[in-house]
Amino acid sequence: MTRRYLKKASAAEKTANSSPADVSTIVKGVIDDIRGNGDAAVRKYSERFDSWSPESFKLSPEQINAAIAAVPEQTIQDIKQVQRNVTQFAQAQKDSIRDFELETQPGVFLGQRNVPIERVGAYIPGGRYPLLASAHMTILTAKVAGVPHVIGTTPPIGGKIPNSTVAAMHLAGADEIFILGGVQAITAMAVGTETVRKVDFIAGPGNAFVAEGKRQLFGEIGIDLLAGPTEILIVTDETADPFTVATDILSQAEHGPDTPAIIVTTSEQVGEKSMAYIDEILKGLPTAQLAGTSWKDFGQVIVVDTMDEAWKLADELASEHVQIFTKNPRDALDKMTTYGALFLGENTCVSYGDKCIGTNHVLPTRKAARYTGGLWVGKFLRTCTYQEIRDAKASGELGRLCGRAARAENFEGHARSGDLRALKHLDDEHEW
Ligand code: NAD
Repeated sequence: MTRRYLKKASAAEKTANSSPADVSTIVKGVIDDIRGNGDAAVRKYSERFDSWSPESFKLSPEQINAAIAAVPEQTIQDIKQVQRNVTQFAQAQKDSIRDFELETQPGVFLGQRNVPIERVGAYIPGGRYPLLASAHMTILTAKVAGVPHVIGTTPPIGGKIPNSTVAAMHLAGADEIFILGGVQAITAMAVGTETVRKVDFIAGPGNAFVAEGKRQLFGEIGIDLLAGPTEILIVTDETADPFTVATDILSQAEHGPDTPAIIVTTSEQVGEKSMAYIDEILKGLPTAQLAGTSWKDFGQVIVVDTMDEAWKLADELASEHVQIFTKNPRDALDKMTTYGALFLGENTCVSYGDKCIGTNHVLPTRKAARYTGGLWVGKFLRTCTYQEIRDAKASGELGRLCGRAARAENFEGHARSGDLRALKHLDDEHEW
C-alpha cells in the first residue's frame, strides 16, 4: 500500500492518543479540591478560569426569561425547528429499542426493560463559541429517552450569560440551568455540592479539560463518551470539487487550534487544489486564526492509489466525522466500519450534522469510534433484565443444573440454592 503525504501533521500524534499530562494534573487538582471544599472551590475555579463569580451559578426563572427575551425571534424559531429535527430522529431511535419478555422453556420467562437514568448532567460547551446546538443534542435527547431530571451547565461567554444557549437549553427541557464551565462544572455535577445536586450521568462534548474531567470521574458517574476536540476526515476520488473540500475542512478546523483535519484522496490533483483553496479561503475567514493553526499543525493530505486503500486508511483513522466525496458515496456504508458519523455526498456536510439536520453531533473523538458510536437515546437508558419461573418442575430442573454448574466452580452456597428448589419441586430419587 502506498501513501504519499502532500501535507503532514506535525502535532497530530502528540494529542491524538492521550491527554497532555498538564491537563490531567490540573483536572485532578480541581476534582480533589471541589470534592473536599464544595461550592467554595467551584467558585474559586470559576473565577480563575472564567473570571465568573455571580451571586448564584444557577439561573432563576426570571433570569431564564430575560435571556430568552434577549434572543432575536428568528433565532428562537430556528432553535425550535432544529429541535424538531433532533426530536424526530431521537424518537425513531427510542422506538427502535424495545422491552421484551421471552419464554425460553415452558414456564421460564426472561425479560428486559429499558429504564431511563434518574438524574443527568448535560455539559454545553461555550468557551469559544455559544455551542447552543449541543443543548439540543444532550438535553433534548435525554428528555426523549424519558430522563426525569436534567441539569444543564454552560460557561459564561465574555463574562456574560450566553442568552441563545440558555434559550436552547430551556426549550430543550432542562430542569435546572447553571452558568458554569469546564472541569469545575463537570465535578460539581459528578460529586455534588451544597447547591448542585449530584447526578448519575454526565453527557456532552467539550475541550480537553472537560473530556479529561469526565474520564477521571467515570465510574463514580456514568458518561456518554469521550467527545473531545472535533475532527474531520474527507475521503475523495477524482470527482470531488476541491473548493467544497476546502470549505468543509475549514468548517471544522475553526472549532479550535487542535482540530485534526484530514483529506484522503485517490486524486493528487484534488489534494493539491484543495490545499490551494484552503490557503485562499483562510485569507478572508474571520475565524482564520483558529482554523489556520489547526490546519498548519493538524492538517494532513494523504494520496492513496485505490479506493480500497482509502477505505482502509479511513477506518484506521477512526475519525469523528467522515465526509465521502466520491462517485458512489454510499459505498462507504459497506466498506467502512469505524467512524462517528458519515456524511454521504457533497449535498450534505458536517456543518449540517453539527447544527441542524437532526442526527446527534456528540460523537467519539481520538479513535474512540473503535469501541463506541455517538450520543443517542440508548445512552440515557439502563437495560435491566428480570426473570420468573411460573412452573415448579422447570424450577426444580434448573435447580439441578444450577447445583452442578455451581459445584464446578466450588460455590457450595450457590449450589444449595439450586438443590433446595430441586428438592421442593422434583419428587424423583436424586441423590444430593
Ligand atoms: P468548553 O466549554 O469545552 O470549555 C471552556 C471551559 O474550559 C472554560 O469554561 C474554562 O473553565 C475551561 N478552561 C479553559 N482554559 C482552562 C485552563 N487553562 N485550565 C482549566 N480550565 C480551563 O469550550 P471550548 O473551549 O470552546 O471547547 C469546546 C470543544 O468542544 C471544542 O474543542 C469542540 O471541538 C468540542 N466539541 C466536540 C464535539 C464532539 O462531539 N466531539 C461536539 C461539539 C464540540
